Amino acid sequence: MNCLREEPNKSHFIIVPQPAQGHLIPMTDMGCLLAERGVCVSLVITRANADRIRPIIKRVKELKLPIQFVELSFPYAKFGLPLGCESVERITHKLRLYRAFIDAVYSLNMPLENFIQSLERTPDCMITDMWNAWTAPVARKFGIPRVIFHGPSCFYISADYLLVHNKAYDSVTDKDEHVTVPDFPVNLEVTKAQTPGFMNIPGFEDFRNKCLEEEMTADGVVINSFLELERPFIENYEKVTGKKVWTVGPFNLQNKDNELKVGRGNKEAIDKYNRVLTWLGRRAAASVLYISFGSIVCTNPQQLMEIGNGLEASNKLFIWVIKEEEITPVIEKWLSEGFEERTKDRGLVIVGWAPQMVILSHPAIGGFMTHCGWNSLLEAISMGVPMITWPRFGDQFVNENLVVDVLRIGVSLDVKAPHFANMNVVVVKSDDIRKAVNDLMDGGIEADERRERCKDFSEKAKKAIEGATSPHPRWLSSASPNLTSTTTSCSAPLPHTRSHHLGALRL
Ligand code: UDP
Repeated sequence: MNCLREEPNKSHFIIVPQPAQGHLIPMTDMGCLLAERGVCVSLVITRANADRIRPIIKRVKELKLPIQFVELSFPYAKFGLPLGCESVERITHKLRLYRAFIDAVYSLNMPLENFIQSLERTPDCMITDMWNAWTAPVARKFGIPRVIFHGPSCFYISADYLLVHNKAYDSVTDKDEHVTVPDFPVNLEVTKAQTPGFMNIPGFEDFRNKCLEEEMTADGVVINSFLELERPFIENYEKVTGKKVWTVGPFNLQNKDNELKVGRGNKEAIDKYNRVLTWLGRRAAASVLYISFGSIVCTNPQQLMEIGNGLEASNKLFIWVIKEEEITPVIEKWLSEGFEERTKDRGLVIVGWAPQMVILSHPAIGGFMTHCGWNSLLEAISMGVPMITWPRFGDQFVNENLVVDVLRIGVSLDVKAPHFANMNVVVVKSDDIRKAVNDLMDGGIEADERRERCKDFSEKAKKAIEGATSPHPRWLSSASPNLTSTTTSCSAPLPHTRSHHLGALRL
């Protein structure tokens, strides 16, 4: 690796993300952030995931950022996984294949060891996803300090930690019973059904226990957040775990270079970039609602139609992301034989991967209907976009609580039960969608105050990431004494991409 050879005094960090978009994206952003501040970074990634972000890898090279993408081949066949199944959202029958997927990820320890062995000097630090407990013995073997990266909010990980360590669910017989999170800075009630805790699923006990165990052996924790957003919860997590926490986010804001921003997670989005910008460019400020539920959540056909009908009835402008696998024959017919025609003057349906950061950072966007994945929330917060919250599972219900009750920058759809696409139920009716959209997008004292609060957090987020010298001294000094604090701002425009016919309203 050139950086290591040419600049032997620079620190070298190895970053090992969990292969899931909600983890890969922020950890790649973090790699760029560290590289911009003078660290040599080796980002360990599987080949199919690297293929998805080839333009970003190319751009990183053009910008001469000292990042090496270490591409490991993924043993999908050995573990009975379909070809190219190298990321969580590719697992269609999730639980059946998920176990095999995790075992395949865990078998990457030998290739990682071989890579480290091939280096001329021992890396200074390894930042690995909390899910990647398999990296802990590797780090110990080579004497490398290991910092873990937690994907969710500190609000969630702190609450989850307290629930586990106080055995708060032990006496719970009804999974819908309300449990108060003990010793939490605010009153937070959860249910076991909504918030079961990290991978608390039968058949995954060994995986869960290993991750929780190795969380405790880590030398520190990195969170994609910023102090002004979550201070009491960050301090709480530090207090109860005794771990040092570095908040070096929001990572998404370090993508000042449009080319790094547009293909985050999937190069597929690059083709949609110009078309989306043209569409948004014709709209007034804060007039468009963006609807997307992240990389994993799927929505069943009946529910999709309720969403569409609610959007239509709201009379608001919208960009709605529908996943390719959600386009069943019923949905295709419903979209093409009525919905798209009726909403063609004010709606844009994006099928597949959307350039989310480009969309959320456009001034025409005035609201975001989200599943409450932490990256999506943080991306909206850093752009000052208030939200409609619709959690589905995992950390999402607790994240919703942070956004709606603590930060007061969201309108809740009041969904109480976790739900998955295969449940085939309508959880939110079109009229409730219409009401929430109008509450969020129409003016009025409440909506204006919500928007102002959100803008205020956006300013604070920008200060947190721009003032890299001041807000992160602990990170900069203790993670690596050689880090410098210069922020590189690259805003080269994207090269002209394939032009699109502007007649159709679907991408
Ligand atoms: N994302 C995107 N385009 C899409 C869907 C998702 O760029 O069409 C990105 C989004 O910007 C975020 C990540 O994928 O960075 C999703 O992470 P999040 O934590 O919000 O949800 P998850 O996918 O983990 O449920």
